[in-house]
Amino acid sequence: MTAQSAGNSFGACCETLKDAMQGEDFEPLIAVDDEGVLYMSVGLLGLDGHDDEANTIDYPVFFCPFCGTKLQTAEDIDAKAGGTN
Ligand SMILES: [Zn+2]
Repeated sequence: MTAQSAGNSFGACCETLKDAMQGEDFEPLIAVDDEGVLYMSVGLLGLDGHDDEANTIDYPVFFCPFCGTKLQTAEDIDAKAGGTN
């Protein structure tokens, strides 16, 4: 019951980001996690010597990749991901 409009603030800057977060036929590459932090999934090849294995890491998005609007700061992410317990 901690969902406090999490994610609703992202995607307001431009339609492109909004669309990117709402992939219905595919898994969105940009998504908001349970803490309300916006993440981008980045596929990497060749980690740990497995050249043929794709690894996906989630990387926090600070600026909208489409229009450049500042979406969140490292402090925001720390506060959300670190929790306040
Ligand atoms: Zn944008």
